[in-house]
Amino acid sequence: MEMEKKREINHPFHEHPLVFVEDQSNEGQKSYCSACGDVISDPCFSCAPCNYHLHNNCALAPQTISSHPLHPQHSGFSLRERPRLDNRSGCSYIVHVNCALEDYRFYEVVERESRCEELYGSSSKSTQPSITRVVEVSEDGEATKIEHFSHEGHCMVLADKMEEETDRRCDGCMLPVSTLFYYCSESECHFYLHKNCAELPRVKRHWIDRDTATLNSRSFMWCFLCNRPCSGFFYEMGELWVCLRCAEVPDVIEFQGHEHLLFYDFKCRERCNGCGAYPSEEGAFKCGKCSFTLDFKCLSLPHSVVHKIDEHQLNLTYHDDNDYSKHLRCDICEGKRDRSLWYYCCSICDTSAHPDCILGEFPFLKDGIILPPYSRHGHRHDVRFHRKAEDYPNCSSCGQRCRREIVKCAESTCNYIAHFKCWWPGLSRFRVIQRISHFVPTASRAGKLSTRTSK
Ligand SMILES: [Zn+2]
Ligand SMILES: [Zn+2]
Ligand SMILES: [Zn+2]
Ligand SMILES: [Zn+2]
Ligand SMILES: [Zn+2]
Ligand SMILES: [Zn+2]
Ligand SMILES: [Zn+2]
Ligand SMILES: [Zn+2]
Repeated sequence: MEMEKKREINHPFHEHPLVFVEDQSNEGQKSYCSACGDVISDPCFSCAPCNYHLHNNCALAPQTISSHPLHPQHSGFSLRERPRLDNRSGCSYIVHVNCALEDYRFYEVVERESRCEELYGSSSKSTQPSITRVVEVSEDGEATKIEHFSHEGHCMVLADKMEEETDRRCDGCMLPVSTLFYYCSESECHFYLHKNCAELPRVKRHWIDRDTATLNSRSFMWCFLCNRPCSGFFYEMGELWVCLRCAEVPDVIEFQGHEHLLFYDFKCRERCNGCGAYPSEEGAFKCGKCSFTLDFKCLSLPHSVVHKIDEHQLNLTYHDDNDYSKHLRCDICEGKRDRSLWYYCCSICDTSAHPDCILGEFPFLKDGIILPPYSRHGHRHDVRFHRKAEDYPNCSSCGQRCRREIVKCAESTCNYIAHFKCWWPGLSRFRVIQRISHFVPTASRAGKLSTRTSK
């Protein structure tokens, strides 16, 4: 009998010894590295009973490194586990080792450790709740009337169904509210929060960044992950602002439109299978088994929408199996549709349209939010954002007619109206500025806007 070449290591991220495997015998059945998420290749270290594997390089990655070129102001980085995926198995640890060695976001600066321990203590209860006061409780202990940090001065009441058929959006995530939500008790105040959104912790850890994530109800920012201007709540992690829709996406997902697991890869620059765009430094989700890629912009799209083009609900559709060429036209812009990309569709009427045509260019900006004066303009008042313009007024900036996405002066005595894009010509450049400042943590981020929510 041939002597088996065996070597064992004890790795701090796994409770059992890991055995060195030179050749994998289980051909055909792929395993994934619990550190980087890529398919396991030889040689590797494995704990067979737990189905826990690490590439040789990942297993032997240094536990600490003294400095990193992308984050020169601190020394001493220690390798940390990424948070657990779920509680289904005690062994589903995921650690981005390869990535950690390339991107400072995945390092923990040693001196910060004590501060984070303080924040979290030993239980999750020590995190700050968003509900600042429970005013009334139902018989079964549910908070039926609350005060919320984002909506000071007004109480919010729990409801389980919207009474009228109106398009009400959650002021946290900007998605429609229909069941189980809090609404403002003041009749003139249209402020809504999904129950889940109202209960989010104000400080938490998010897998995308080693900084603590702080919930902010700033109401207007650029989401780093879906790459859009958004209103609603954000988790703020140092330089990164992430909208609630994106913040909810875990780093490994089972996506119903694809048969395999998708892993987040910040290095991914492959074309998104949903929209056809190429991700930039926010990365994208990649399939562990095939070349399927999805960016956050597509992942955070609503699954169904209502649009005046069709009396029925339109559903986000991943595959177009229809052979008739009629279906490859968008019923809104009449432009071509790429068969391989996502679209919204009503299967009863055969209506189909581009997601951008259905949702508009700024689907997650709340109608009526107030934006502060943009300093590069002659106009010095706060403005309100509106999705549509009544009577197609002429833009104060370019002189052309305004149909959609406009800003209107908030002062009653001033009749300034402009296209949103004319009012904020830096809209496209903003992204570039953010990109640069993301990798230079000390640089101030130009173009950052803060706003009040409209009441
Ligand atoms: Zn919500
Ligand atoms: Zn209110
Ligand atoms: Zn987002
Ligand atoms: Zn996409
Ligand atoms: Zn796949
Ligand atoms: Zn279209
Ligand atoms: Zn204009
Ligand atoms: Zn004005």
